[in-house]
Amino acid sequence: MLAVGSDLESSRAAVACASRYDDVYAAVGLHPHEAGRFPDEAAEIEALLDQPKVVAVGEIGIDRGRENWSVDVQTLAFHEQLAWAQARNLPVSIHNRNADADVLSALENFSVVAVLHCFSSSAAFATQALEAGCMLSFAGNLTFPKANSLREVARSVPAECLLIESDAPVLAPQPWRGQRNEPARVPAVCETLAEVRALDVETVANDVWKTAERVFRWGAA
Ligand SMILES: [Zn+2]
Repeated sequence: MLAVGSDLESSRAAVACASRYDDVYAAVGLHPHEAGRFPDEAAEIEALLDQPKVVAVGEIGIDRGRENWSVDVQTLAFHEQLAWAQARNLPVSIHNRNADADVLSALENFSVVAVLHCFSSSAAFATQALEAGCMLSFAGNLTFPKANSLREVARSVPAECLLIESDAPVLAPQPWRGQRNEPARVPAVCETLAEVRALDVETVANDVWKTAERVFRWGAA
């Protein structure tokens, strides 16, 4: 699994977790909620990219739903980190809230494999993102009763572009909704995906495993 950072401290924790457990890899990056700290933390986060088992840059992105920092400040940090990923040929994990257009236009300017984490956008955007070569990663909100349109999107994503995640500590899937989330709950996301794709759970688990292995290059790190 991939442990994902959101600032310097949590990126260090992800790297430490990866060094301790064989099956854990790390992503390091500065989340848009923390974008104003980029000038202070950038150099040390970038240095973490050279640590063993760091296989991605993330979470990075744009959040227009909760603007702790102006979109300009967020965009600066986002683009700088996309450049890090491009220079090292690393994939990125993107946080996108109400920022579909910002994300797509940024990706036009960088040659990176992008995982749209906790995909929650429309079917139309899913089509555009897949055409742009993105991976779509689904979290616990896929299991929520009202998430019919999201399940409709998840039904038709090509297996080779499909990922699942916890987004812990938030978005615990049914029946744990509202509780602190953890990676042990991810199978519930896989079960919902299997249901909507009319496949057995093992097949979907194998599909997302293969996608993760290819995108994050487990084993080569
Ligand atoms: Zn996020």
